Amino acid sequence: MEEQLAENVAAVQQQISEAAKRSGRDAADVCLVGVTKYVDVATTRALVAAGCQTLGENRPQVLWEKAGAMQDLGVHWHMIGHLQRNKVRRTVESTALIHSCDSLRLLKSIDDAGEQLGKSVDVLLEVNVSGETAKHGFSPDEIASVIEAVEPLGNLRVTGLMCMAGLSSGQQDVRREFDLLRELLESNRGNAPANVQLRELSMGMSRDFDVAIESGATLVRVGSSLFRGLR
Ligand SMILES: *Cc1c(COP(=O)(O)O)cnc(C)c1O
Repeated sequence: MEEQLAENVAAVQQQISEAAKRSGRDAADVCLVGVTKYVDVATTRALVAAGCQTLGENRPQVLWEKAGAMQDLGVHWHMIGHLQRNKVRRTVESTALIHSCDSLRLLKSIDDAGEQLGKSVDVLLEVNVSGETAKHGFSPDEIASVIEAVEPLGNLRVTGLMCMAGLSSGQQDVRREFDLLRELLESNRGNAPANVQLRELSMGMSRDFDVAIESGATLVRVGSSLFRGLR
């Protein structure tokens, strides 16, 4: 298993380098977030040993459990899935970054938890770039007003935007959706309050992270490609 994982991590890193090179970017500016939702703690540990130091989970309880069981490793945990407000506090305790902030009420809860824990919490705003109704996230034209509305939330730092391409989007649509997220980041940079520093773009999964990097992704969330060939 260790060998297969090391091979998979190297292959993904190679793809990241090539996509960065194609678009005149530095591969060091793209962080691989290893999405471990398919595997148990033992395999997750092996992934860390294979060189993946930033991990993502989409279910809060699983994230808490794994973060607790792997405290000795000092990895960075990212929450990437839908978060309910009653799960905010423990998630804030366990994570370095919450990608999936999709409502102002959730952002306020995270800010409250940050205050209680004496912690400044880094978050991304999730944007529904495909318009698919099953998708979470703010609509693109809400982002400017959300950015204004977080100004008083002093325990929060909005460091960027996150999206998932539409499930039924073809290659061209996917690229257009990723470009839209980058344009949103750029167009909202100018008039943002002090706790909003728009620099991260979390976009791209196994099937499309190379396209996402060409469009400016700084965080790619890759799961299945890392666990290929394991049984
Ligand atoms: C599962 C998941 C991923 C990773 O998807 P793969 O196709 O397995 O690479 C990325 N982002 C989110 C939000 C996910 O839930």
